Amino acid sequence: MNAHHHPETPTVDGMAGDDVGYDSTEWTAVHPRRIDDEQWQRYEGYLREIFSALGLPGGTIATDLTPRRFLRALYDATSGYEGDDKLVTAFPTECHGGSDCRISQVVEGPIPFFSLCEHHSLPFFGSAYIGYVAHEHILGLSKLTRLVRLFARRFSVQERIGQQLADGLERILQPHGVAVHLEAVHLCTQMRGVYELNSSTRTTYWRGNYDGDAQLRNDFFELCSSASSHRGRF
Ligand SMILES: [Zn+2]
Ligand SMILES: [Zn+2]
Repeated sequence: MNAHHHPETPTVDGMAGDDVGYDSTEWTAVHPRRIDDEQWQRYEGYLREIFSALGLPGGTIATDLTPRRFLRALYDATSGYEGDDKLVTAFPTECHGGSDCRISQVVEGPIPFFSLCEHHSLPFFGSAYIGYVAHEHILGLSKLTRLVRLFARRFSVQERIGQQLADGLERILQPHGVAVHLEAVHLCTQMRGVYELNSSTRTTYWRGNYDGDAQLRNDFFELCSSASSHRGRF
């Protein structure tokens, strides 16, 4: 988790800053990770040694580049730490005014996501559903997908991704309410046979109007369910 507060990070008026356990404003800052050639080679060497000790046959055409591929795959799977400049610059063009904004609930999903659990560095993956009661802003599905990827492509846990999405959407949209529902399978438990195959973990976060409105929450789940019914979920 990247919890430090960048000095150049812009803040959004009227929103809380550092009073949470992580910095959910970090999506506004883009900071590429720098790993130079010497470091890449050294890390590949470490991995070659580890894979060999675990039993991977070295020196074959198939496995010679495995340490490099694995390192590259980890690097790509954690690109969310670098931010997303397209996400930031695209927000103003997504704005729309609305007079009946308190009534309508927007639900988007399923948005697929892939993440690495911070306890085992093994994948967990599934679907995100996002609902909100808009005020003056809406966000298209492509930007919602970017936001989900921004927080999922890190070493994380499902609960944190849900909280970061809920907090991020509150900052971006300043809506009347936000709902985030995630369902995912976790390889760190499934590969070791602790849980049944295909069992999924479900987490839901409410903000604003959803907090005190059971009907709104029920409607959200119904809309999620109908969106995913063709996949046999829920
Ligand atoms: Zn794990
Ligand atoms: Zn409004």
